[in-house]
Amino acid sequence: MQILHPFRGSIQQYGEEISDANRYRPAGCPQCQAQCPLIAHGFYCRTLVDVVFDGVIRVRRYLCRLCKRTVSLLPDFALPYMRFSLSVIRLFLVARLLEGRCLREAAGAAWQPHMSYQRGQFWIRRFQKQAAALCTALASLTTVMAAADFLTRALHMLEAIGWMAAHRFLFAELRMHLLGWPRFLIPHGCRVSFPAAWPTF
Ligand SMILES: [Zn+2]
Repeated sequence: MQILHPFRGSIQQYGEEISDANRYRPAGCPQCQAQCPLIAHGFYCRTLVDVVFDGVIRVRRYLCRLCKRTVSLLPDFALPYMRFSLSVIRLFLVARLLEGRCLREAAGAAWQPHMSYQRGQFWIRRFQKQAAALCTALASLTTVMAAADFLTRALHMLEAIGWMAAHRFLFAELRMHLLGWPRFLIPHGCRVSFPAAWPTF
């Protein structure tokens, strides 16, 4: 299971902070609700592309002594199963869908001038599918804004709330992925079947 690591700082600072197993050690198990601190259980590595970073980050893992399941502490600047950071995806979607810029310009606005068209279109498709659900889910955090369609309304709501704050709320409170869970993790981000090959866009 993944839970969010509420981190404010650079990715380099995150790398240093995560070395200390005690700093964000969960006091209980989010899966079986056992009230005993989880034990450090190493790391896994994942790739991440941010505005000024393109590389591998470590993600801290903990183990519950009782149910023997692991919990990983995903930094909140990364979306589960997305190689690109939330900031990059936000910059792209706002430039393309709110400001009406072409795909190439939107990729430039997200500091990814060499990004493939397919990747951007993939993000747009996922966001389009998710827009109505986002409007409903985020209604408790901001006023529902008048807009021509769900997609525009969802973008305005995310801009008003802040994408990071919205992501934290969706993930922690509703187990909802801002861009929708990949098919093999529907409905709540828990693995229900063996994943088919899933592109890490
Ligand atoms: Zn447990």
